[in-house]
Amino acid sequence: MQRSGLAEVGAAPAPDAEELRRRESRYALLRGLQHPLWIFDFDQRRVHWANAAALKVWSAVTVDELCARDLGRDMSESIARRLSQYRSDFLSHGSVFHERWTLYPNDQPVSLDVSFSGFPLDDGRMAMLCEGHAQVSDAPEALRSVEALLHTTLMISLFDLEGAPMYRNPAARAAVRSPQETLQLYLCDSDTHAALMQRTLRDGLATVTAQVHTVRGIRWHELSARRCRDAATGADALLVSEADVTLLKESEAQASYLAEHDPLTGLPNRNQVRQHFARAMRDLELVSGQAALVMIDLDHFKDVNDTLGHAVGDELLVEVARRLRAAVRRSDLVARFGGDEFLILVSSSDAAAEVQRIDDRIRRTVCQPVSLGGRLISVTATLGVAMFPRDGRDFESLLRSADLAMYSAKEGGRNALAFYEADMGLALRARTELEAALTDALRDGQFEVHYQPRVAVADDHVVGAEALVRWRHPTRGLLPPSEFIPLCESTGLIHELGRQVFGMVARQVAGWSRQGLELLVSVNVSAVEFRDQAFASRLADVLRDTGCDPGRLQVEITESMLLGDDERVQTTLQALHGLGLSIALDDFGTGYSNLAYLQRFPIEVLKIDRSFLKGLSSERPLAELIVQLCRLMNLFAVAEGVETEEQLRWARSRGVHEYQGYLFARPMPAEAFEALALGQRAALRAVFSAGDSDRTSRAPP
Ligand code: C2E
Ligand code: CA
Ligand code: CA
Repeated sequence: MQRSGLAEVGAAPAPDAEELRRRESRYALLRGLQHPLWIFDFDQRRVHWANAAALKVWSAVTVDELCARDLGRDMSESIARRLSQYRSDFLSHGSVFHERWTLYPNDQPVSLDVSFSGFPLDDGRMAMLCEGHAQVSDAPEALRSVEALLHTTLMISLFDLEGAPMYRNPAARAAVRSPQETLQLYLCDSDTHAALMQRTLRDGLATVTAQVHTVRGIRWHELSARRCRDAATGADALLVSEADVTLLKESEAQASYLAEHDPLTGLPNRNQVRQHFARAMRDLELVSGQAALVMIDLDHFKDVNDTLGHAVGDELLVEVARRLRAAVRRSDLVARFGGDEFLILVSSSDAAAEVQRIDDRIRRTVCQPVSLGGRLISVTATLGVAMFPRDGRDFESLLRSADLAMYSAKEGGRNALAFYEADMGLALRARTELEAALTDALRDGQFEVHYQPRVAVADDHVVGAEALVRWRHPTRGLLPPSEFIPLCESTGLIHELGRQVFGMVARQVAGWSRQGLELLVSVNVSAVEFRDQAFASRLADVLRDTGCDPGRLQVEITESMLLGDDERVQTTLQALHGLGLSIALDDFGTGYSNLAYLQRFPIEVLKIDRSFLKGLSSERPLAELIVQLCRLMNLFAVAEGVETEEQLRWARSRGVHEYQGYLFARPMPAEAFEALALGQRAALRAVFSAGDSDRTSRAPP
């Protein structure tokens, strides 16, 4: 026989006369009983049979009439569910229930106490035998409260003081695994049971949220227990009402998980580290132990996000988190601090040595290229370390120290580790002040451009200049680029600085053109500017505003800028080329010197780095090679940093086209350079008009 809900069964036909006669003889023994007695057929949703007293309760004249009533027609969903529950309880536990029921035979309520028990029919199906008892109080309050008890979703049970169940309302019965289950077995945790009993017996009432065994598995219930007397026997009892709070509990757990974890990587977040740290510190204080707080920052993570998109950036973070976790001991805490920053808390009797080991493992594992979206992305990380208790006794001050250490490791060129040192704070303050001063300088126009002549090797004739920026600092005098370019790059001020420099140069060159000075001036750009998507259009704006002939301007880039996203580099270079600007590869030979670049990109000039000209001419095999390369690839060669006559002779003998260096002139203000160029032009004119073929002398420094 199936245990399905009754609601599935449609209205069944009323039994025929033959069948009713059969039932009368079958239940003849019960017919004479004084109290109402009827059998309910769950499937048919009809009374199967009833005695005379029951007919009176149901206001029916004959059994035929009562059996013909379709009780399922107006049955509410909750009654249907309850009946279904009764049937399965009869089947599985042979239960007997006593409840007060209110029937509505002719739309008039009739209340009576009924005992329900399982009753197998001849065909083997389980039916319900209902025995009515002497009429009880009909006081409306009592009736309503009983109704409420039957229909509420709140689970209400009555136990004796040993925890054996005496009564369960339908909601409670529907929840328990077995109607006979004691309170102790029902609660998952025996300590909770003991505490609940103890508190209830002592205080008269108690409330707990506890895990209980139910037909739906283990659930969280909120239980309120209250001491009372059993209304039937007067014995001491325990009334327990319960509500299922599992969903609430789960969302609480979810909320607290989210409050303590980073949803992307699943690592603890900074909140949790802070708490964990506070606990760890207390323990360490007790044993005078050591710990290290390591701050880890991925190098150039922003580039990954900017060029490959945030989805790839996220994937990279997840992978790095996994590798970091694997690189530390189980006892070390790894957390995501935010963005591309991670924290490791290492406690050990020799924390500094352990940090070195972790650094080692990070270099070997975390910094392996990651394959994402079909390409290999190289990962490097910079680590800053603060030691407890030396560099701070609480989390916030240690964090500050670790941050400063990381900062200074970044300044030192990234992909490195630095332990905190006391003067790092001072360095940072100086840096912050410098940043503010640079912002003012850009606003107030404190930057100026100096020009170092670019000279034809063949005849020492000034063909142009390299523009080099200087900062006329209000108190410190003229500052070279090395003092401020790195900070401009890391703060993003470089974009504005680059724009100003290019503007000054373009205006200057346009002015010189108007005076008949046909010069080519090259301008340095930083990798940060070059990577910026708006770079080419910024230059285009300047060209338009100044009216400068782009053919007179050259952009100096370095080899490192050509690495990475080929397509993007190609786009930028083509855009510059399209504006009419030429491109020089600066400091050539110091970087990656990939010949493929020279073919792939529109590059016209190679500037041989000054370091290649050092020493004796026999020690210049690389410089030789670069010059040969230029000849082969039809590129223009410029020797940088020519300081001696010997170097110049070398350049001349090798067929280098141009040179610049202290030998001819140092970088100089625009007016000085202009005077030099004008003077040279005048001298040339004089030479030509005199028909003298003597070469002009080298310019005065
Ligand atoms: P760079 O592009 O390699 O510029 C050449 C540097 O070598 C200049 O230093 C110049 O003064 C110096 N120099 C020239 N001839 C000689 C020589 O014979 N001997 C020696 N020892 N040095 C010589 P400076 O002006 O201090 O510039 C340094 C670097 O700053 C430049 O290196 C360039 O990378 C960068 N820079 C300069 N101006 C700008 C700018 O406007 N924007 C950007 N982004 N970077 C700039
Ligand atoms: Ca340069
Ligand atoms: Ca250079």
